[in-house]
Amino acid sequence: MRVEFLGAYIDVLTMEETVERITGFVNSGYLHRVVTLNPEYLYRAQKQRELLDIVNASDLVTPDGIGIVWGCRIAGYLVVERVTGIDLMLNLCKRAASLGFRVFLLGAAPKVAEEAAQKLRERYPGIEIAGTHHGYFEEHESTRIAKEISKTNAQILFVALGAPKQEMWISKYQPQTNVPVAIGVGGSFDVISGRVKRAPLWVQRIRAEWLYRLIQDPSRIKRQLVLPKFAWLVFKKYII
Ligand code: UDP
Repeated sequence: MRVEFLGAYIDVLTMEETVERITGFVNSGYLHRVVTLNPEYLYRAQKQRELLDIVNASDLVTPDGIGIVWGCRIAGYLVVERVTGIDLMLNLCKRAASLGFRVFLLGAAPKVAEEAAQKLRERYPGIEIAGTHHGYFEEHESTRIAKEISKTNAQILFVALGAPKQEMWISKYQPQTNVPVAIGVGGSFDVISGRVKRAPLWVQRIRAEWLYRLIQDPSRIKRQLVLPKFAWLVFKKYII
């Protein structure tokens, strides 16, 4: 089921259904884009139409961030599962290892993508990492990088440049990469590589992962200040 929330069309699927759908995208061989949508992006997209257009031109949009799940519920849609970028990436890597899909990791600081790739090889033996590239490059280098990716014949491209940069990059350069599935995954490489610790399960369960990330990295306060504004917007639109 696809629901409309603050102008964005979001797919209400379980993790298993999401992985199944993406497997179909890979097998089709045609280009597909996946967005893991968080409240910060959706809030910004209210003013920046281009960002909303990117979401709505995607083939699959998952509810990342508890704010999206909560907002959808207030809007009257029962979103049972949060499908975050990192969980989706790990589940897809597991699937990739069993089906032989080749994955490419683009993004994060130099060396981090390679370290994350190594961790993925240990965790999912047999996974084919088609290649890696860090995310600190100039705009004019994008075409060269996209062509390099294209030569690797990757089938899933994980892009970790942070939102909305990764979604904009995918929308512009995926055709040149020729990779059937491209997904923006935010800070996932930092976590998979072990450089950043993910909140323990109990913290995720009490829905306080955002607080854990804030304590780990207080500079996130600026972006998290968007959350009360997002909540107010939802309140105005769906409650009053
Ligand atoms: N990043 C990058 N290139 C840039 C800016 C950011 O590769 O020009 C990376 C950064 O190193 C980090 C990720 O993008 O690995 C963004 O992580 P963040 O936690 O901000 O993303 P979120 O998961 O919150 O969307």
